[in-house]
Amino acid sequence: MQSIREYAGEVRVCASCGQPCCLSDTEYGAMWQHFSEQWDGVFCPDFPLVHAPLEMKWHDLSWRQVREEYRDTRL
Ligand SMILES: [Zn+2]
Repeated sequence: MQSIREYAGEVRVCASCGQPCCLSDTEYGAMWQHFSEQWDGVFCPDFPLVHAPLEMKWHDLSWRQVREEYRDTRL
């Protein structure tokens, strides 16, 4: 899984849970997935994959704020 704070690629939003998601490598190739910070912290029927990633037009400052302040629920 990918950390939201280290990810540099396109960010979309999961249509099932409304959380940001990323395109990340798996053993089957690149797939849309949730971020590692969301582990045990968000309810999503598709977790860890994202079956309907919605395209976003993030403003750079807006995305930066989400990335830096996103709660890490793995602990
Ligand atoms: Zn989701």
